[in-house]
Amino acid sequence: MSEMVETAELLRTAANEITRYLASLPERPVAAPVEPEALRAGFGSALPAGPSPPHTVLAALCAAAEPGLVATAGPRYFGFVTGGSLPSATAADLLAVGWDQNAFNRVLSPAADAAEHCAGRWLKELLGIPATASTGFVTGGQAANTVGLAAARHRVLADAGWDVESRGLAGAPPVRIVASEERHATIDRALRLLGFGTSAVTEVRADPTGAIDLDDLARVLDQGSGPLIGCLQAGNVNTGACDDLRAATDLLHQHGGWAHVDGAFGLWASANPDTATLVDGVELADSWACDGHKWLNVPYDSGFAFCADPEAHAAAVSYTAAYLVGSGGEAALADFTLESSRRARGFAVWAALRELGRSGVAELVGRTCALTRRFASALAEGGAEIGNDIVLNQALVRFSSDEHTDRVIAEVQREGTCWLGGTTWRGRRYIRVSVSNWSTKESDVDRSAEAVLRAAASVGAVAGSAG
Ligand SMILES: *Cc1c(COP(=O)(O)O)cnc(C)c1O
Repeated sequence: MSEMVETAELLRTAANEITRYLASLPERPVAAPVEPEALRAGFGSALPAGPSPPHTVLAALCAAAEPGLVATAGPRYFGFVTGGSLPSATAADLLAVGWDQNAFNRVLSPAADAAEHCAGRWLKELLGIPATASTGFVTGGQAANTVGLAAARHRVLADAGWDVESRGLAGAPPVRIVASEERHATIDRALRLLGFGTSAVTEVRADPTGAIDLDDLARVLDQGSGPLIGCLQAGNVNTGACDDLRAATDLLHQHGGWAHVDGAFGLWASANPDTATLVDGVELADSWACDGHKWLNVPYDSGFAFCADPEAHAAAVSYTAAYLVGSGGEAALADFTLESSRRARGFAVWAALRELGRSGVAELVGRTCALTRRFASALAEGGAEIGNDIVLNQALVRFSSDEHTDRVIAEVQREGTCWLGGTTWRGRRYIRVSVSNWSTKESDVDRSAEAVLRAAASVGAVAGSAG
């Protein structure tokens, strides 16, 4: 067999496997119990002494992985904030792998450069970010927060006469970092990596919804001076609450500060007129982090770092000099990301946006929010207590006590109709419901709610029997 014929067959086999897997998603148990040791053993123990034919390798991979695949991309996975993948985005990502483009710059891949420029424009328009902002196609919210805060570090220290890129932080003017007690843990990791340390954070209280308390922000800001970075949030992972971006950004700017918005999923509220008010004022911020692999439903990994100050963005993370004003160089894709060489993840983003269009993205956001409310209502009717005002696609649900709630979660996970995780909110245990998948239907929500209520009845968390 010629090499090309063999490759073609191999790719068809892979495509068939993917198709079979995707077709199984609607009915497959969300997560089958698996012994980690057995699963690892399935991948082998000793390093193979010599080569194997590619088709043998592919068959072995499929057999070894199958028992350990979790249907996170399916319609009844409601854990964390987990999206699936739109058909065009899955196919486009396969092409990105097949084309094996290095999305470093225009010379290495004019196609990747053009696709990411176009997708970047579309993203900014949908998310309410100024068209003049720079965009980096990064791995996810963690990387986007790190890049945004690196840009912030550059700007606030440059304004104080300190070149942090050449001199580092030792001896630099102290930078005040102000963030809500409800910030995502990736903010803390970004601050560690950037050399600030997590103890540099001055915490601001959150209000009962989980959004930043503006009075407390004003109080904290009045307590100090000097270089200042504020970390705001659109989309609390428990409640979906969004900080008042207009008022908080105003306050930060009045104090000469930089406003960074972590909107890993919540920034998508902008794309639907019914939820856009939650992120009113989003365009005023200085940097934004958002995910593609959550609500936009493109495959892992995919995130976006946007910056209203492209020069600060590139100065912070580029390692070429192209960004320098007057150099005549045009900024490259890699001037806005932490990676040097990377895959062309923008193709899948472009494909998802091209498939949905403006109305499709709005509809996806609106529909998943409505499904979240439907899920919560069904559980409330069955005796559960709802712990938050459902403003987006996140709901908190609990049964009579912390212990009962945890037992319901364990039973739901064991039973396998759907997957839901637990969380602690304001000192109490809750089930966290997040509907982020494009393929989730009302029937999936109804079946899942019934499964949760059955689990609740079986562990004695609600009176009566749901079947
Ligand atoms: C998911 C999430 C993150 C982290 O994003 P990753 O894509 O996992 O790196 C950060 N902030 C918020 C608010 C999130 O929901």
